[in-house]
Amino acid sequence: MSDDLPAAPQAIVRVAVPVPLAQAFDYAVPAGVPIPARGCRVRVPFGRRDTVGVVVGHAEAAAVAPGRLKPIGEVLDPAPWLTEELLGSLEWASRYYHHPLGEVLEAALPQALRSARTPPTEDEEVWFLEDAGRQARENPGRRRGTRPDRLLDQLAEGAVAAALLDLRLPGWRAAARSLRQRGWVGCRRVPVASAPPRPSPGPPLNTEQAAVVAAVAAEPDRFVPILLHGVTGSGKTEVYLDLIGSCIARGRQALVLVPEIALTPQMLRRFRERLGVTIAVLHSGLGEVERARAWLAAARGDAPVVLGTRSAVFVPLPRPGLLVVDEEHDTSYKQQEGFRYHARDLALVRAKALQVPVVLGSATPSLESLANAEAGRYRHLHLRQRAGSARPPDLHIVDLRRQPLQHGLAEPALAAIRACLDRGEQALVFRNRRGYAPVLQCRDCGWSAQCRRCDRPMTLHRGRSRLICHHCGAEQPVPPGCPACGGLAIVPQGHGTERLEDVLRARFPDVPIVRIDRDTTRSRRARDALLDGLADEAPRILVGTQILAKGHDLARLSLVVLVSIDEGLFSVDFRAGERLGQLIVQVAGRAGRASRPGQVWLQTHHPDHPLLATLRGGGYRALAQALLEERRQAQLPPYGYLALLRAEAEDPALLEQFLSAACRVRPAPEGVRLQGPLSAPMPRRAGAHRGQVIVEADERGPLQGYLTSWLPQVAALPGGRQLRWSIDVDPIDL
Ligand code: ADP
Ligand code: ZN
Ligand code: ZN
Repeated sequence: MSDDLPAAPQAIVRVAVPVPLAQAFDYAVPAGVPIPARGCRVRVPFGRRDTVGVVVGHAEAAAVAPGRLKPIGEVLDPAPWLTEELLGSLEWASRYYHHPLGEVLEAALPQALRSARTPPTEDEEVWFLEDAGRQARENPGRRRGTRPDRLLDQLAEGAVAAALLDLRLPGWRAAARSLRQRGWVGCRRVPVASAPPRPSPGPPLNTEQAAVVAAVAAEPDRFVPILLHGVTGSGKTEVYLDLIGSCIARGRQALVLVPEIALTPQMLRRFRERLGVTIAVLHSGLGEVERARAWLAAARGDAPVVLGTRSAVFVPLPRPGLLVVDEEHDTSYKQQEGFRYHARDLALVRAKALQVPVVLGSATPSLESLANAEAGRYRHLHLRQRAGSARPPDLHIVDLRRQPLQHGLAEPALAAIRACLDRGEQALVFRNRRGYAPVLQCRDCGWSAQCRRCDRPMTLHRGRSRLICHHCGAEQPVPPGCPACGGLAIVPQGHGTERLEDVLRARFPDVPIVRIDRDTTRSRRARDALLDGLADEAPRILVGTQILAKGHDLARLSLVVLVSIDEGLFSVDFRAGERLGQLIVQVAGRAGRASRPGQVWLQTHHPDHPLLATLRGGGYRALAQALLEERRQAQLPPYGYLALLRAEAEDPALLEQFLSAACRVRPAPEGVRLQGPLSAPMPRRAGAHRGQVIVEADERGPLQGYLTSWLPQVAALPGGRQLRWSIDVDPIDL
């Protein structure tokens, strides 16, 4: 076809396609086809297949000979979904993170828009009662309180949207399916409800909260970055809600990023009820169609509020008004593979381009954000009091050198749990390891179960009777005896959440014990059931990992026991201290949210460790100050800048060769230093040998300059094609 294209004038578009190549590709626009604007998706031939790319520019003359210029196959969008601002921010991100633009754009688009299919419509799914269902409800013998029964009740007053059922009756889908088979309920698609619930007012703000609102109200149409530093329960969410309310009233859109939604349906409900608008929700637990619908609602400007996890930072906002990043310190904002962006940092880039305020909220701000606030780049606003009468928890340290452990828990901690339950309250036992025991060891010869592909101990999962590697997922049965000496004295070492659950059950047989970790919340149904149960305010013990550190409001929770945090005290990762301090403060913040004061018991073999002493004496602020000073002296972020070249290969010689060559291929200029080749923190994973090179610099500019010239040379190294490598700018784990 290209042969008989008219000689001139020919429209040429530059298209970014989702392939790991830095450049965009030129295509001809066939005569008669309207020239697609920047940001439009187009179907184009690429290699031997068709792919979907995004128009990123127009060219006068093609970079290839006219005869070889291929025509675009189809223009998929009459007008671009990606706004000029978003496209610009993504181009910036592609340069900053040194990741191909085509793949960056692919990450920004919802799955449904990455193919040439037509995007879903605006309809929403609505469930209603059939006549048979209505009759069934009248049957006096029906079983009350079951989920199907509650679903029938929900629908009795009229049709209800699926999104609302998600909020009101977690786990309703299974019930809906069985009721539908019986012909009791039905489902149809209707245009999105035009009459949302009415907003309900919040409490009057206190002085500190009002100051934050005033700071934004003073300059609503400018880039104003605000670090909102307030302990858990100090009323940050109330501030967001107030700001979002004003934003909606001005006819603008608010984008709110949160670390996790699936486990915090309460937050979504609170937003809906307070703001009285439909909220577009975006997280990875949604189906492809639901995600696309929310994304498109934002892109059309229909959704006044978008609430989402990391990748929601890529939502187009044609009527932008406000960005919020809740729990801005949370590591889930950093994408750890492929396009390794940081959603908080991109939120700042976008807010600046959009000229809107951006609020970063946290009880434990990242050192990066604190340094920015200190340098005057962000406004630093505080919420120092817990709202209402809630008081901060008391911190008790249990010295494990003096306390014999009762199966992972020291006597004072057990006594505190007993006392808490006796007061009619709830206790949380926190342990950042799932499974039964982190190590299975032979007492006779010292053998321990190791993952052959990772050189790390395998975790014993007793309920499933398996040894599982938490790094690569490898599984094997538990051996009946020691494979090394044949003895029978193989014993679990240490305590994971599964074992703590057993220990607590034996010690407190009269109390319900709920374990919440990745193993017990894997299926949506199990997770919903557990979350349902959390609303119960009767005395109980919760055992769990990180998952429990955030989210759910537990009004009756007044005691937190941190079982073991010692690994974090001696990690080689320079961010370990910051992470541990954040974790302790965040978990502690779960206690005493209502009027009861909370207690925190922390078990450690190192009660005199400076981190704990500082935290105990001056709280997170004092710890952050001390850690910032250490970073300043070591010229580490936020006072230095890093990039990490990671590589892995089955063949260690190949790995070594590649990384050594990468270190030599281009000398680092003044102010930039290369360190390596080094082995990775996990030198082997899933059978691959892993290594890295650290690039350090005093300033961002020279680092970027060096990467720009160095990376193409790294890519051209002969070994580069035989192994996997990647670049991580501003890495969060070294
Ligand atoms: P955070 O987001 O900082 O954890 P929240 O905004 O969730 O805090 O507030 C914690 C609790 O205090 C909530 O129950 C909230 O309704 C209540 N609260 C917040 N601000 C006020 C206020 N100004 N007056 C009364 N109650 C408030
Ligand atoms: Zn042995
Ligand atoms: Zn493994």
